This record gives sequence, C-alpha cells and structure tokens, in this order.
Amino acid sequence: MKLTYLGTGAAEGMPAAFCACPVCLRSLKEGGKSLRMRSCSLLGDDVLIDMGPDIHAQKLRFGLRLDRLRAIVYTHSHEDHEDLYALRQCGTPTAAIHPDVPEDEDILDLYGNRWVYKCFEMAMSSGHRARESHFRFHEIKPWQTFDVGPYTFHALRANHRPIVVEDCLIYAITDGKSAILYANDTGELSPEVDEYLRGIGLHFNLVSMDCARGLLPGNGHMGWAECLRLRERLEAIGAVDSGTRFVLNHLSHMNDMTHTEWEAFAAPHGIEIAYDGLVVDTEDHV
Ligand SMILES: [Zn+2]
Ligand SMILES: [Zn+2]
Ligand SMILES: [Zn+2]
Repeated sequence: MKLTYLGTGAAEGMPAAFCACPVCLRSLKEGGKSLRMRSCSLLGDDVLIDMGPDIHAQKLRFGLRLDRLRAIVYTHSHEDHEDLYALRQCGTPTAAIHPDVPEDEDILDLYGNRWVYKCFEMAMSSGHRARESHFRFHEIKPWQTFDVGPYTFHALRANHRPIVVEDCLIYAITDGKSAILYANDTGELSPEVDEYLRGIGLHFNLVSMDCARGLLPGNGHMGWAECLRLRERLEAIGAVDSGTRFVLNHLSHMNDMTHTEWEAFAAPHGIEIAYDGLVVDTEDHV
C-alpha cells in the first residue's frame, strides 16, 4: 500500500500565511521540507484522504491526475480537510471535463461523517453550477467498516472535538497485505479504540500521528507525549512491532521546530517527520 503525503501542515499551513512568529520565519528561511501545505494524503493513485484548500497547488506540485480519483475519504469537516470550493470545482461540469467518461459513470464516491455531509450539501446548494449527481455520498459512523477499491477502511472515533459538536474519524486501513493507522486530527485516543483495534487484530506497518501540538500537552490534537503514549499503547496490544514506521503529521507552528529541528529531535526515538511529498510504501515493510 502506498501513501503519499500531499500536505503535512495544520489548518494555517506552515509557515502560516500571515504569521511572523519565530518558527514560521525560520521555516520560511529553511524552505524545502519545512514548507507544509494543508492536510491531504493520497492512498495508491486514486483515493484521497481529505481534500483541503491547497488541493490545486498539490496537483501542480506533484503532477496529480485528480480527474481519475475513485473516492475521497474525509476525517472531519474542518475547512483545512474539507474545502467546499474545491468540492464545487470538482462537481462543476465546465470546470472538470472528463471527455473519456460517460456522464452516468462520472461519479465520485465521498465518505465522511454527517457533519462532512452537511458541508457537502451546503457546497452543492449555494447557487453554483456543481452537480450533486456527480457524487455519491456515504455517511460513515465510528466503528463502521467500508471498502474503497482494494482498501478496507475501519472508521475509529477521534478525540478532536466534543462528540456532540462533531464525531470526527480517524482510520485503520488495510489492503489485506499491509495496514496503516491514519490518525489525524485527534488528541489522545480513548480506550475504546484500543479495544476495537485488539478485536480486528491488524498489524500496522505505518502509524501516522497528529502532532500539531508539538511539545505542548495534547488538546484536540496530540503532542509529542501523546504520540509516544500511542506507540506504547499499540505495542501493548500487539498492533505494531520494531518494523513499524511512526510518522508525525499535521504539524503546526505550535511545534516551534522546523523540519530539520524536528528530525534531529525525533530520530533518536525512532520517529520520522512527514513532509509534503513523502511516499511511504508499506509493501517494503511487510
Ligand atoms: Zn486539521
Ligand atoms: Zn507562526
Ligand atoms: Zn480539525
């Protein structure tokens, strides 16, 4: 299974567009892997996990064929993950011309919770020319399993917002040969996640962790301490081993570290730092 990180920054991007805090200035100067677009990943060649406001720039930078997408799987409805303008563009026939695809087959599957669905409906009903019929929306609840092409997704309950505000999701994903835990946006996970993971018995080749809080204590996002604890919890239930790669993602200026500084800090702990363009091929680690 191949996961390509297209955007590894938090909501404001890194460095943040309008920010002059010390780490944003250092990141701007460092350039390269310190420059992070908003959260988005590509599974294989045709499944997006989240589609944020940088999707057009990500297409240009990485040469993506987004016209060939099979599905978008959303974690939650925050604007850095579900960009409504991009969705409208995707569903507007004059903006997304697919000459080789018959119109009745030109349908993109969307997966997300009901808050994602409400925002999708808002995007479609706001007087633009987007066709709702271009999409097939599948509402997903925690602990639900669904298949997208060759991948099975297990929706797990995130700890990102109060559940009454939005029941945000993270995903355990497998193609039957390898498995990924894709965990952002979330703070420290509840024990029900451990129980669920113990039950399905997946062994993760890659654990991708929200570390927006950096060295600060977790609060709707994890920080360094919560990421280390997640690794310990996964070890305790036998879901990871010494071959598992642990990668920090969704990084923000709360971190107070550039990419190079983060790498120097995390490498001795066996933890990698995601960057825009990082490709993890889990087949290498079965
Ligand atoms: Zn986010
Ligand atoms: Zn800043
Ligand atoms: Zn969020």
